[in-house]
Amino acid sequence: MSKLYTPGKIGRLEIKNRVMMPAMHLAYCPGGEVSNRLIEFYRLRAQGGVGLIVAGAVGIDPLRINEHDMIQLYHDRFIPGLSRLTKEVHRHGTKIFPQLFHAGRYARSKEYGGKQAVAPSAVASRFTGEMPRELREEEILEIVEFFSRAAHRAKEAGFDGVEISASAGYLISQFLSPVTNQRVDRYGGNLERRMTFPLEVIAAVRQAVGEDFPIMVRVAGNDFIKGGNSNVEAKLFCAALEQAGVDAISVTGGWHETHVPQLTMDVPPGAFAYLGETVKSAVNIPVVVCNRIDVRLAEEILDHDRADFVGIARGLVADPDLVHKAEQGKYEDICPCIGCNQGCMDNIFFGKKLNCLVNPEAGREIELMEGSTLLRTVKTDYPKKILVIGAGIAGLEFGKVAAERGHHVTIWEEGIKPGGQALIASLPPGRRDFLRLIDYLTKACLKLKVKICYGKKAYADEVLKAVASGVFDQVVIAAGAKPSLPDFPIDQKALVVPAWDVLSGKVKTRSRVVIVGAGAVGVETALFLAETGTIDGPTLRFLMLNQGEKPEDLYQLLTRGCKDITLVEMGQGVGKDIGPSTRWSMLAKLKQFHVKIMDQTKVVAVNREGVLVEKTDGQELIPADTVILAGGACSNDEVFLQLKEKTDKISIIGDAKKPRKMLDAVREAYEEALRVSEY
Ligand code: SF4
Repeated sequence: MSKLYTPGKIGRLEIKNRVMMPAMHLAYCPGGEVSNRLIEFYRLRAQGGVGLIVAGAVGIDPLRINEHDMIQLYHDRFIPGLSRLTKEVHRHGTKIFPQLFHAGRYARSKEYGGKQAVAPSAVASRFTGEMPRELREEEILEIVEFFSRAAHRAKEAGFDGVEISASAGYLISQFLSPVTNQRVDRYGGNLERRMTFPLEVIAAVRQAVGEDFPIMVRVAGNDFIKGGNSNVEAKLFCAALEQAGVDAISVTGGWHETHVPQLTMDVPPGAFAYLGETVKSAVNIPVVVCNRIDVRLAEEILDHDRADFVGIARGLVADPDLVHKAEQGKYEDICPCIGCNQGCMDNIFFGKKLNCLVNPEAGREIELMEGSTLLRTVKTDYPKKILVIGAGIAGLEFGKVAAERGHHVTIWEEGIKPGGQALIASLPPGRRDFLRLIDYLTKACLKLKVKICYGKKAYADEVLKAVASGVFDQVVIAAGAKPSLPDFPIDQKALVVPAWDVLSGKVKTRSRVVIVGAGAVGVETALFLAETGTIDGPTLRFLMLNQGEKPEDLYQLLTRGCKDITLVEMGQGVGKDIGPSTRWSMLAKLKQFHVKIMDQTKVVAVNREGVLVEKTDGQELIPADTVILAGGACSNDEVFLQLKEKTDKISIIGDAKKPRKMLDAVREAYEEALRVSEY
């Protein structure tokens, strides 16, 4: 058995295994009050076997209150609600800490009642785009007091310890960094002086909770900010924390303002484990490593003694039963987090509640239950024979949930593989995790005896006949979308191809490429082609290990491909339909890979010489030998339209109904599968 499933200790607290769920802002607490939604969310993760939950972030400052439904501990009135939460989590043998948090200059004024953020120094935040106000010394002392009072309340509410947030660019890390702490009083100066505020917080919290109550601190292993703290300073800070009586360190990556992606799909699994490992070399207290770690990798990290605990946050949003399943070796049954951020980070960014692309139940458990049982797991009294047309993500999700409810599901898929558009979405660089979802859903369907027929195109007459003769009781169209046709003239002799055909390798492109349409598909196609002619990972490793080229030359070899690519977009800006937590990094890559961008540019015509466009200052011909159409998609609803007047035993879901985000398609498929019993 892996060490991951053996008990570990933080201070004197024994934790049943080494899996921790780090804090994630969920936005489930209107007015800061604990809701049933929050309790059920965490209770299910506890029931699923996780050893330690860090709930939060949790607000501590009564003067600066996050109004985006954050958990709060700035007043005694929150203690009863949090006591309910800790009791429910404890029923499953799981321990729980709150993450005591202060945003400092990362507080967006619109989420904080219009108030200006406060910070060690008045240094504008690239994360919020706002300028904070410098804290006065008496205000700093007041915030120290807020931390200690909140910690005391946490103990009263039955928490097993506390975590203090000193990572990601929030207030404590702002004091630690020379970039954001330019003070000349006792809180500013060299690293030792910049540690004054964090260490005062630790001392006050220790005083408030007593000797035996565990204190963990969440740190940035490297800020990844120019001029900021690196892993060297992180090690020194963690050693000072240990000296100050801290019981464990949880290590994450950089700040929200960093240029190094932390959570996107292209972050290699476990990429930041080395940061925790270096911290571990400097301290004798337990160290937690985090970021893009799935359970198999977690086992490996623990078994090689690279850490004492592993943090898995989004993996537990995606599958609350992850720990129990893994412990029993049922890895294939784990619904994987794919790092898409669509339901979690992006929803939070847009001021919504946290949800999940792969798990439509996340955060909605209460509304999807009958008593204390999830509706999905309740067998229907009226099992039906259902035909699903299309084995894309929506079709597979529908098939899985309907079969779980006891329906007999057959899927007709025109292609030779499952996945539909998700297969194409997995092809650009750094997007491979979509394959994990396809794989998981396909295996889940097969396990539930869903019959998937490949190479089977659906014709309206045949479907109608099958329904009329009772072969099927119900038809669900999940045929996805198809590329929209352009509205400009195209010379027959020009090489013009759809983006999906380029991504799927059906067509080859020449060297001067113009991509028309710079939404997600256009951007991904540009990045896909931009890598052509660059060196790959193994070659880079080979050259680095043998010191064959200078680092700056290797960078050139990595980013300078053999194609000349221009992205043309009619609207303002590119990648507008990509979620904010992923978009910035994709746009940065376009620049890195020398992709030219022309927005607010209308295509007039395509001819053999290239693409004729119209801009505000007149017309221009962009020379091209390949033109790629990435101008959007329309529903593949032909069969539905042919049948809807002839039978009422038909419904339509996902992109076949209306092209949208994958998150919407999965949710719609899930809900349709619950509803199908009610027809
Ligand atoms: Fe993971 Fe995407 Fe779900 Fe977030 S929305 S938890 S990134 S699968």
